[in-house]
Amino acid sequence: MPFSKLGLSAELSRAVSQYAEPTAVQTAAIPAVLAGGDVLAMAQTGSGKTTAFVLPLLQRWLSAPHETPRRLHALILVPTRELAAQVTEVVRQCALHLPPQIKVVSAFGGVSINPQMMALRGGADIVVATPGRLLDLIDHNALHLSQVGTLVLDEADRMLDLGFADELRRILALLPKRRQNLLFSATFAPEIEALAQDLLHNPTRIAIESAPATAPVILQRAIEVDAKTRTQLLRHLIKTEVWRRVLVFVASKYAADLVAEKLRRGGISALSFHGELSQGARSQALADFKESRVQVLVATDLAARGLDIVQLPVVVNFDLPRSADDYTHRIGRTGRAGESGIAVNFITAESHAHFCLIEKRHRLTLAREQVPGFEPTEVAPPPTFGGIKGRRPSKKDKLRAEAARRARE
Ligand code: AMP
Repeated sequence: MPFSKLGLSAELSRAVSQYAEPTAVQTAAIPAVLAGGDVLAMAQTGSGKTTAFVLPLLQRWLSAPHETPRRLHALILVPTRELAAQVTEVVRQCALHLPPQIKVVSAFGGVSINPQMMALRGGADIVVATPGRLLDLIDHNALHLSQVGTLVLDEADRMLDLGFADELRRILALLPKRRQNLLFSATFAPEIEALAQDLLHNPTRIAIESAPATAPVILQRAIEVDAKTRTQLLRHLIKTEVWRRVLVFVASKYAADLVAEKLRRGGISALSFHGELSQGARSQALADFKESRVQVLVATDLAARGLDIVQLPVVVNFDLPRSADDYTHRIGRTGRAGESGIAVNFITAESHAHFCLIEKRHRLTLAREQVPGFEPTEVAPPPTFGGIKGRRPSKKDKLRAEAARRARE
């Protein structure tokens, strides 16, 4: 079904004419949002979910009365600065051919608040914000939320994971009672279900496991290697397998700096990307990577969600992610928009048991590879008390169990 059959204006359909057809989440969400009701959508990044809510929001904005100062038509909350910048860009692209000029303001922390306060003078039609900075702006009287028509929570699961629950509660209390709510999440974890219960009225439920139009074709590999030879193996693979652009995930900021430095010493252009860098350095690293001025970006999980890097052929889990969900997000950085991609996991003696759990969660069984010259020699340490499976429940596990219990009641 073409975009034009989904109830969008010719100008909006034209803005997405580069796509052959809507993705599954777009086909389901666009008419539901246009109808004005609440929506609860489970969709991964890369499924086209951003366009799925941006297009109908713009369509609704077109038919709403336009006032001066501008009334905040939609508030889009996102978990990270990078996602805020990305969603803002999608709004601008989709609005490109619209006759009235839309004003979209992006608000996120880590940069001076003043330009954002200036940008909000005279109001805005759409604000894309991270929760903390939005509250700062409200405290500075730079905007108020009493007239918001639609609230979008994008990557709501990530927002809760990052500990934004309190900020969200404060923001929700400032919104008008009558409004449309759109909740997008990669998972329907119990906390999300609980949030949906509080927030949504009779929502249209959309669950997209994978989007045929953009279904990623990701080849997953598991290479056994000693922890201490991983950087050498990485260098070897970059050269022998001719990986022109690689996103490498590590467990800490320190490791990101160290691995990037070692790669540079080995003659490979590499930068680190993590939360301790200034916003300027992060944007610059990302721009250098996207525009192929550096070949390798060594990142913490900061880069695991939301980031849309077209033509990223390889993702390497140098350190394994902590959770099976993070695994999905990390490997989802490759194979975007229908391209194929490779996700390589380095499996050390120590991380082997953890990888087996990730495989189990994803019903995966990857063949173990060894690369000649890098065969592992380390043996697994004895299991810690109780083993991984038997570990004591974390605070998060307990919260989940509590939310699940409440949902059953
Ligand atoms: P998301 O992060 O889920 O918003 O997905 C964004 C990616 O999907 C971007 O690379 C878009 O260019 C791509 N995309 C969005 N809509 C479509 C579509 N209808 N067909 C193909 N690719 C799309």
